Amino acid sequence: MKATEIDLHKELKKYFGFNNFKGLQEDVVRSIISGQNTFVIMPTGGGKSLCYQLPALVLPGTAIVVSPLIALMKNQVDAIRSLSSETGIAHVLNSSLTKTEIAQVKKDITDGVTKLLYVAPESLTKEEYTQFLNTVPISFVAIDEAHCISEWGHDFRPEYRNLRNIISQLGDVPIIGLTATATPKVQEDILKNLDMPDANTFKASFNRPNLYYEIRPKQKTVESDIIRFIRQHKGKSGVIYCLSRKKVEEIAQVLQVNGISAVPYHAGLDAKTRAKHQDMFLMEDVDVVVATIAFGMGIDKPDVRFVIHHDIPKSLESYYQETGRAGRDGGEGHCLAYYSYKDIEKLEKFMSGKPVAEQEIGFALLQEVVAYAETSMSRRKFLLHYFGEEFDEETGEGADMDDNVRNPKKKTEAKEQVVTVLEVVRDTKQLYKSKEIIFTLTGKINAVIKAHRTDAQPFFGTGKDFDEKHWMALIRQVLVEGYLDKDIETYGILKLTPKGEEFIKNPVSFLMTEDHNYEETDDENTVT
Ligand code: ADP
Repeated sequence: MKATEIDLHKELKKYFGFNNFKGLQEDVVRSIISGQNTFVIMPTGGGKSLCYQLPALVLPGTAIVVSPLIALMKNQVDAIRSLSSETGIAHVLNSSLTKTEIAQVKKDITDGVTKLLYVAPESLTKEEYTQFLNTVPISFVAIDEAHCISEWGHDFRPEYRNLRNIISQLGDVPIIGLTATATPKVQEDILKNLDMPDANTFKASFNRPNLYYEIRPKQKTVESDIIRFIRQHKGKSGVIYCLSRKKVEEIAQVLQVNGISAVPYHAGLDAKTRAKHQDMFLMEDVDVVVATIAFGMGIDKPDVRFVIHHDIPKSLESYYQETGRAGRDGGEGHCLAYYSYKDIEKLEKFMSGKPVAEQEIGFALLQEVVAYAETSMSRRKFLLHYFGEEFDEETGEGADMDDNVRNPKKKTEAKEQVVTVLEVVRDTKQLYKSKEIIFTLTGKINAVIKAHRTDAQPFFGTGKDFDEKHWMALIRQVLVEGYLDKDIETYGILKLTPKGEEFIKNPVSFLMTEDHNYEETDDENTVT
């Protein structure tokens, strides 16, 4: 259908009561209505749902919406039903339905009443459903939380891998993938797995200019530090994330003893207590929720003023999502995370029982967390680069909103060293991850270097004047500045970018800062 034939603003107003589209919504809606494969990357709260709901409502046929979260599906169905006098306009199809209910769903679809059909990915694999869906007109298939398709996403779900096959059985229907988190690697995986390399891609900015990012070394005094922080934010709402249920209970208790109104929230509490604590937080009967990551899904409290990570998360995706719950209303949002390398080792240990491939991915994601925590460059720039977005640290919105930018370390000229790094990457044939590059620079041997006889090369050990930590800091900054890139297939092997090749020919000034050395400030008895 031609999008121009429909008065989209009128439909928007009619169904949703909004006068204007938000951000990229209108372009996305037009892309879907014109029947093209579409890929949408928008941070949480960006208005993704409307992107497929409006086209579903105006196009002939039924749109299938694949979503992994049953609770959220139900909310969405209720929301759509409230827009219409027709209950059958939206349905969920899953195994909990009775035979009569399934018959009703099928009837509504056949009668052309149902515009949106929500299904969990595992339901879609059931033959009885696919056979039926094959006989009715489908307008498009929307795949929500599309990052679940990628092992490199933070929430890989194997069932998502089958979706493309199943959709093909439904005939030639357009696909729309949507996600709120996707690094360039995950984006590539999604497009590849859904076999839609030429999809219209819409990516909104992930920058949250009102959020202030801060990392503190995690010391023995972490609890009193948190208490001091909360007292400085007296009466304001905040969330404290901990890794374990036990830690959640401990911290909640410590806060209560110190006169701070706080409640725990984790999956070990019964549903009633959880709901009560959540409501207390939403109704502002308590200031602080101490929680595991079980807390926050679908929670929309606009005035959360701080998010504290007592324990560093296992990926920057998680960090971004969890910190993202602060300052939804655009007001103050302080994101404070405590970091200790010991916590990273603990997270690594958790992964030790998993399949090797999964472990490798887990380690690589953790290394990004380490890099983010230890870097002394603009945290916003680092974070946005991770999600494939350029950020201008001079003029970008929110440029001064992190600890590193507010308290800058001394910068030193590193032009020559950058050339050295880039040349070593080039001369080792772009086969190495940063570890081997650093070994080559500092003259350290491992099996890979030996096998390639890199130790016999004239450039081996040319960077001996600086230690490994220094080179690591430099490589992290060179990556963010775009002179090097991580290979998208292996996600680790360093490649020269055209900008890097140009730098070797015509070097320019490159000011670097050393990474933080948190261990120096670490107590002997660090609490982890
Ligand atoms: P996401 O799924 O991307 O997290 P939602 O679809 O839940 O985001 O939308 C976030 C909020 O924005 C919702 O409260 C929604 O009603 C609102 N919203 C969406 N589109 C518009 C619009 N065009 N105008 C005003 N508000 C909108």
